Amino acid sequence: MANTENLNVLESTQTIIEDALKKLGYSDEMYELLKEPLRVLTVRIPIRMDDGKVKVFTGYRAQHNDAVGPTKGGVRFHPGVTEDEVKALSIWMSLKCGIVDLPYGGGKGGIICDPRSMSFRELEVLSRGYVRAISQLVGPNKDIPAPDVMTNSQIMAWMLDEYSRIREFDSPGFITGKPIVLGGSHGRETATAKGVTIMINKALEKRGIPLQGARVIVQGFGNAGSYLSKFMHEAGAKVVGIADVNGALYNPEGLDIEYLLDRRDSFGTVTNLFPNVMPSTEILEQDCDILVPAAIENQITQENAHRIKAGIVVEAANGPTTLEATKILTERGVLLVPDVLASAGGVVVSYFEWVQNNQGYYWTEEEVHSKLQEVMEKGFENVYNIHKTRGIDMRLAAYMTGVRKMAEAARFRGWV
Ligand code: GLU
Repeated sequence: MANTENLNVLESTQTIIEDALKKLGYSDEMYELLKEPLRVLTVRIPIRMDDGKVKVFTGYRAQHNDAVGPTKGGVRFHPGVTEDEVKALSIWMSLKCGIVDLPYGGGKGGIICDPRSMSFRELEVLSRGYVRAISQLVGPNKDIPAPDVMTNSQIMAWMLDEYSRIREFDSPGFITGKPIVLGGSHGRETATAKGVTIMINKALEKRGIPLQGARVIVQGFGNAGSYLSKFMHEAGAKVVGIADVNGALYNPEGLDIEYLLDRRDSFGTVTNLFPNVMPSTEILEQDCDILVPAAIENQITQENAHRIKAGIVVEAANGPTTLEATKILTERGVLLVPDVLASAGGVVVSYFEWVQNNQGYYWTEEEVHSKLQEVMEKGFENVYNIHKTRGIDMRLAAYMTGVRKMAEAARFRGWV
């Protein structure tokens, strides 16, 4: 069956925002304010490549809403980046910050590029060029970038260095996800996966299933997916499937996760080392208890949702499940922990990193973990309670939780 549903992530998000605001009793004017980012900057960045030729890259920075506080969110480097995607991602960041009650609005950035085919030098020059291009718009009390798809602590370090040069003062709170020696936080690198682990534990608790021996499939072997596979394996769950951009591996007896982690490259590819892998999307339909899409958008659609066998789906990626698929999964009784809740661990520890930078006083890894646990569990309970008491799906419940603080802040400021 050809997939006829709307796969534009911005339009899908707007539909749910509208629904959530209506359910909360807000006017159409509030929807008018929140349906799009307040600001979106498009930049073009000329880079001299290693072959001597100049290539011009296009990048974006979107700031959804700053009624609550400075905007916050990652920068992704990916060939498929579009303006609408960056806008939707900035709205999702607002929702995440609302759900886990951080003093931020949402922001997001992206550059259309393929870091897998770029040298270290080219990546450095591009990262620095991006910061120069957006420098007027960002700052530690304005808009705070962080890592996202195919960006990491090294890229954050170059961006920090460029920003500090422009401003002529040290400014560690400008960006999060930095290396520890530059003011990064313990636990930031593993934060998204830790947050997802906490969500999996909560979902299992609600369903009365023990983690020990539970069968998990993780689609995506980047930062979130690889650490999550590790944590699941260490906790005694059975990781039966993984997938990367190249393909997927499935073994009902469990995969050799330590070997796979050891052999993955820095972009999270490992299945290329094996002959006859299955296509990455097919892994979603294999038998398991918990399915974690941890790659990119629109993976679970109306086309494959009815073939998903997992009873629990926890979204570590942003936007992996479409609106139609959310309906199908919910009707089938699947417990879906939506992206804006499940993947909030990264921005929670980014917030801790920013607080530590502002204080100049640094916490231990244990302190970070126990605070993360507290914040994520509270976020889950809030969303789950609305889902149960209102009889609505978990995604709408999460949107209602996430949008409320922002709408209230905008109202108090007299914007609507
Ligand atoms: N890029 C991550 C996300 O989508 C983290 C953002 C941040 O730490 O600010 O949630």
